[in-house]
Amino acid sequence: MRTLSKYSIGIGDRFAHQGIAQLKAVQKACEMGVLITPVWNKSFREHQVIGSDPFATRQEADDAVQRLNWQDDYFVDADHINLSNVDYFIDSSDFFTIDVADYIGKPAADADVRDFVEKHKKYVGNLQLPDLDTTLAISEQQIRTVAEKYLFAAQEAKKIYDRIASQKETVAFVIEVSMDETDEPQTPLELFFILAALASRNVPLQTIAPKFSGRFNKGVDYVGDLQQFRLEFEQDVAVLQLAVREFGLSDNLKLSIHSGSDKFSIYPIMREVIRTFDAGLHLKTAGTTWLEEIIGLAEAGGPALAIAKDIYRASLEKAEELCTPYASVIDIDTAKLPLIEEVNNWDSSAFVNALRHDINNPRYNPHFRQLLHVGYKVAAGMGRIYLSALRDNKKVIAKNVTENIFERHIKPLFI
Ligand SMILES: [Zn+2]
Repeated sequence: MRTLSKYSIGIGDRFAHQGIAQLKAVQKACEMGVLITPVWNKSFREHQVIGSDPFATRQEADDAVQRLNWQDDYFVDADHINLSNVDYFIDSSDFFTIDVADYIGKPAADADVRDFVEKHKKYVGNLQLPDLDTTLAISEQQIRTVAEKYLFAAQEAKKIYDRIASQKETVAFVIEVSMDETDEPQTPLELFFILAALASRNVPLQTIAPKFSGRFNKGVDYVGDLQQFRLEFEQDVAVLQLAVREFGLSDNLKLSIHSGSDKFSIYPIMREVIRTFDAGLHLKTAGTTWLEEIIGLAEAGGPALAIAKDIYRASLEKAEELCTPYASVIDIDTAKLPLIEEVNNWDSSAFVNALRHDINNPRYNPHFRQLLHVGYKVAAGMGRIYLSALRDNKKVIAKNVTENIFERHIKPLFI
C-alpha cells in the first residue's frame, strides 16, 4: 500500500500538455511549506473523446516530475473505472478511482443484507459524531435500507479492487471509491454505513467521493445552500473519522471532491472544517486547465485567438451533442450565450474577460464558460491544429494554468 498524503489535488489535463505548468502550482505551495500531492487524473470517457491513452498521462506526469525535479510523491489516477475498463489502466496507473454509482440501488443477496444488519445493529440509537454537537439517530430499518441500496455496490467495488490487486502484485497503489455521479446525494448516515460495507469487504480505500447536495456544475461556482453544505461536509468529515476508528479503515481516509474546480464559494467552508478536524482533502479538477488553454490562446491574440473563436463557434453549433452527456453537471441558459457574430468582433481581452472565472469581472459569462468547458471535443477534433497552437503559445498558456491552480484553487483551500 502507498499512502496518500493529507492534502492532494487531482490535476486532470485533457490534452496532456500542461503537466509542468500544473506541477509548478503544487511546487509553489511546497515552497510555502504546504505539501500537496499531485495526482494526474483522466477518465475512460475523456480518453475516448480525446483519442488518448493512459500511457500518455503517465508520460506527462513522469516528464513533469523529472523536468521540475519534484522530489515528493505523485500519482496517475484511473478516474471513474469499473470492471469493463479497469484493465486498460493497469500498467500506467497507481491510483484507481473505483466508480460504484451504476451499482447503487441494485439488490445484494438477502442473506448478505441480513448479515450486514445483524453485524451493525449495535449502532441503533443515537450515534455521537466526534468533535461535533451532533448525533445521528439510527434505526434498524435505516441500516437495512442502506444495505439494500449500497451493499451490492460495495461488493462490486471489492471485485474491481481484486482485479487491480491481482494484476499489480508488486506495485503499490491508492484506492478511491466514487459515487458522485448519481442523482441523489448520500447523507452522512448513509456514508457511515457505506464505509462499514466497504470495510467489511476489505476494500482498502484512502479516499471517498460522495455526492453532496447542491449543484457541482463543470467549471463554475457551487450552486446551493452554503449553510446546508457546511453541515453536510462537516458531518461527513466527522463520519470518516468515526469510521476509521470503528471499522479499522486506513487512518488517512479523507473526502474527495469531484468537479471540485472553481467551487470558490465553498472553499472557505471546506478550508475551515478540514482545519478544525485536522482532516485531509482530495480536490479533483479536470476541465479547468483545458479552459485556461483557451484563455491563453485568446490572450495570445492573432491566429491563436482565431482558434479560440473557432472552438466557440463549433461548440455553439454542436451545443446539443456536446451538452447531453453532461446534462446533470451543467446549467446553460442558451439565451445568455453570446452570438458568434458578436464573438467574432471580440479582441483578446473581451474573450478573456468573458471566459476567465473572475466573478468580480462584470463581463464574466458562466454560460459561455460552461459551453466551452464541454467543447473540448471540438478541440480534440481539430487534431494537430489545436496541439500545435498549444505548443506555439506555450508560455502564455502555462502562466494561466499555473496561476489558476495556485491562486484560485490551492491558495484559498490549503494555504
Ligand atoms: Zn466524479
